[in-house]
Amino acid sequence: SFTAEAVPQAPEDPLFGLMAAYRADTFDKKVDLGIGAYRDDNAKPWVLPVVKRADEILRTDPALNHEYLPIAGLATFTSAAAKLILGESSPALLEKRATSFQTISGTGAVHMGALFLSKFFPGNPTVYFSNPTWANHHQIFSNVGLPIATYPYFSKSTKGLDFEGMKRGIAEAPDHSIILLHACAHNPTGVDPTQEQWKELAVLLKEKSHFPFFDCAYQGFASGDLAKDAWAVRYFVEEGFELCIAQSFAKNFGLYGERAGCFHFVTGPGVDAQTTIGRISSQLAILQRSEISNPPAYGARIAGLIMNDEELFKEWEENLRTMSGRIISMRKALRSKLEELGTPGTWNHITDQIGMFSFTGLTEKQVLQIREDAHVYMTKNGRISMAGLNTGNVEYFAKAVDKAVR
Ligand code: PMP
Repeated sequence: SFTAEAVPQAPEDPLFGLMAAYRADTFDKKVDLGIGAYRDDNAKPWVLPVVKRADEILRTDPALNHEYLPIAGLATFTSAAAKLILGESSPALLEKRATSFQTISGTGAVHMGALFLSKFFPGNPTVYFSNPTWANHHQIFSNVGLPIATYPYFSKSTKGLDFEGMKRGIAEAPDHSIILLHACAHNPTGVDPTQEQWKELAVLLKEKSHFPFFDCAYQGFASGDLAKDAWAVRYFVEEGFELCIAQSFAKNFGLYGERAGCFHFVTGPGVDAQTTIGRISSQLAILQRSEISNPPAYGARIAGLIMNDEELFKEWEENLRTMSGRIISMRKALRSKLEELGTPGTWNHITDQIGMFSFTGLTEKQVLQIREDAHVYMTKNGRISMAGLNTGNVEYFAKAVDKAVR
């Protein structure tokens, strides 16, 4: 029988502990490279100017109310979200074989996909993640009872993609496995396959009848170009895959706390595709209803307004270029400072990697030494959030790294 006292203590979320330690540190030059959120050059959160504008329009709209959204969410938001990731002329949209549900940001979208697959994918398939991946993938898929495993991804020697290992891992997985792929700006490594490599992966997944599950948390935030960051997803759809997509608007709109996200399921082409997608939608609606009833409105209203208005959309693209551009310039600055200092090792991976994070290759010992000596906070796996660097601290950080690796 259940006794409350028998519930064991869960381990602390490592990022949570890191953030608490950072906050408690009173050193004036402390640096936070743990946080997975954009910071401006003054290390401050940045409300996108286009989000401010949309917020102003919404708040002063006399027709605004606080009624429930439909179960599938705000239709103007979900349809724009589908176009954003799939592309306006996507065969999946033209042939009406995609369905979209608004979710509790990207986390909720990954969960909705996991839950759906756990119920309808026959044979209790194993879900394969890159090693490493966003830590929450392990919990989300385990929580719905799906077995999990990993495929190799990161090469410690090149600090780039272990493409041969990745292909081997995917080839060795039993046919009809679920393969989780990061659409762009892989978290935590910052390492993405090239377009040629994506094409090879598509061939391999097709041969093995694997099911691709794309997690897309950084569209537009990675390269500054929304279409470029969606390339892999669009390619797989054009290749006729049945797949699903978890889409987050936390990073690209800076709407972290508003929890705006979307889950998309795309069926393969075929005469019955539209009836199939109708049945899938009906099941997703029941899952959504039983978990959250209706998704939250405000973030979806902001993102929806911006995506549906030509002028606001252009301004958003500019804001995306500001964020991605600042991060790319910090990558260049960090690499060149380390090279100037003659820091042992190679540092090209800092600029080869893309997106919010960089896998520096620093060992746990070095990470802890840097925390101790310089009050710079990063996860023990050597991952740094590039957004935590700015013109005021990049040299300071480079010097701390230099000291630790010598
Ligand atoms: N997937 C990946 C790979 C991520 O990095 C993140 C953000 N850390 C998410 C999903 C989901 O984030 P959110 O729920 O805030 O949208």
